[in-house]
Amino acid sequence: MNKIEHIGIAVKSLKDSNELFSRLFGEPHYKIEEVEREGVNTSFFKVGDNKIELLEATNEDSPIAKFINKKGEGIHHIAFDVIDIEAEIKRLKIEGFKVLNETPKKGADNKLVAFLHPKSSNGVLIELCQEIKE
Ligand code: ZN
Repeated sequence: MNKIEHIGIAVKSLKDSNELFSRLFGEPHYKIEEVEREGVNTSFFKVGDNKIELLEATNEDSPIAKFINKKGEGIHHIAFDVIDIEAEIKRLKIEGFKVLNETPKKGADNKLVAFLHPKSSNGVLIELCQEIKE
């Protein structure tokens, strides 16, 4: 793994939280993107070299809706940048981690992504991200 790609924060209202985090960082979000298949609306902020992703559910079955119902708003996942996501999935499975997406899927911000079950990583939901090069 290379570096933290972004930190994902589950929010109830993207509109309210975009406003809140703009005040926090002193700069507005640079993009909003819906990931329809996942039932989420996302927005991204740059903080120096780092990125923060806000996630809002678009329906009640969305993983973000379930997360907020259970735990409330807050840090949802930490995403790590990887060069070869398929090799990394293989490696982590051998290491005993529970991979939720055996085949990487298209995530927000032009990435291939796969998640690890938080039960196999001390309660932390981990996202692997590989930049899609076109
Ligand atoms: Zn993410």
